[in-house]
Order: sequence, then C-alpha cells, then structure tokens
Amino acid sequence: MSEEELKTYNGSCHCGNFSYTVTVPEIKRGARCNCSLCHRKGYFWLSVTPEQFKVDEGTGELSSYQTSEGSNRHLFCATCGAGVMAKKPDESFMAVNLNTVKGLDRKSLEVKEFDGASVGESYKTFDVPTDTIDALDLPDYKTYTGHCHCGDVKVAFKSPDLYAPTTFVVSDNCSICAIHAYVIAYPERHHYQITGIENTTAYFMGDKYADRAAAACARQDTGVLPPEAEGVSDEFEGD
Ligand SMILES: [Zn+2]
Ligand SMILES: [Zn+2]
Ligand SMILES: [Zn+2]
Repeated sequence: MSEEELKTYNGSCHCGNFSYTVTVPEIKRGARCNCSLCHRKGYFWLSVTPEQFKVDEGTGELSSYQTSEGSNRHLFCATCGAGVMAKKPDESFMAVNLNTVKGLDRKSLEVKEFDGASVGESYKTFDVPTDTIDALDLPDYKTYTGHCHCGDVKVAFKSPDLYAPTTFVVSDNCSICAIHAYVIAYPERHHYQITGIENTTAYFMGDKYADRAAAACARQDTGVLPPEAEGVSDEFEGD
C-alpha cells in the first residue's frame, strides 16, 4: 500500500496576525461539535498531530480560553476574534478550525457530528436582561436572547419569528462571516438590548467595509452582535 499523498494547506485568522500550515492527506471531512462553545463559535474541526501543524515564522500570538479547568485550550486571535485552533496543554490532542484554512471548499466536505454537549459537566446558561425591550409595544414580535460563552456579554432582541420565511436571516459567504460561521438576524434600531457592551472589542474590515463591526466578547470572542444591525456600527465608529 502506498503512503497517501500529503498536501500542504495554509490557514490564518481573518486579520492575518496568526498564520500556519498543516501538511495532511487531502482534507475530505471535518467535525462539528454541539457543545456550548463550538456551536457558538461555528467551529469546523480537523484534528492534526503536532508534526502536521506548523506555525508560520514571525506570526503573532493567540489568546486562550478554556470552558473549564483541564479542558482543551481554545486559541483565538485577540484582534479579529477568529477561533483558529484547540489543543490540550500537553498537545496530546490538537485540532484546527477548517473555517480558517484557505482555498478549501467547505461545502463539499463530509461533516462528522460530535456530541460534545454530552461530555463533562453540562453548561449553565446565564439570565439575560430584557426589561428595556419588554417595554416596547410589539405584541406580534418574539423575544430572543443569547450571550457569549463566559456570560460577560448578553444580548436580547425583538423580532418577527426568525423561522418565518419572510424574516431576513443571513448566513453569507464573505470572509468574516465564513470564518465565524455567523448566522445573522437584523433587529431594527432600538429593538435590541445589550448588557456588557464594555466587554466587547470591535474589528473593522478594510476601508470598504469600515462600517462593519464584528463585535465580540474580549474574553473568548464569541460574536454576539449582528455586524450590520442598524445602530451597532454607529456606536463603534468613534472607537
Ligand atoms: Zn486575527
Ligand atoms: Zn465542542
Ligand atoms: Zn464572554
């Protein structure tokens, strides 16, 4: 049996501060995990060995977040918020986020589901304040709430049923949305309430998209704000 031919893939976070190569057999599948962090981050995993993974020379550092003590370290870029990889501290397990691999047709890849939600202690969600939007007179609207993984940033909004075919919900293929696997709702101005906005960082895409803010919790960079929601970009313009 001949050894399977190896291919080299380049990957990086969105801003390019951190870049790497993996040398592996052709990538044909990835794994999605339903745990509290992976589904928030939209991770699409490929496990690699330390020998297959190489950080590019002169590249920047990644920040680290753990869901609990002893769990995998999730490594993300503090500038653009992209989650790049996860590993055990002793590197006995290592995986890269396929959303950060360049030139990969992710839609053509086979998806392996991993039930990470059933592993370890179950994740406790946080209460999200809704008092401001509850005061709005929008009887036909539903209230949606969410928060980043660590709970530092919480968001609630009123919207027509997100599952109704007439409601605009977008998962687009631009570079920033693809890397974060964003699914975006568009609540109207004043129809949302954010708690902990001081815990977010803003990231802007070039001149052309200077008004697009991808806000994320500074602790672990789960995107919680819709990049193009009216009002959100205005608030970040002065930063
Ligand atoms: Zn970056
Ligand atoms: Zn997971
Ligand atoms: Zn957080």
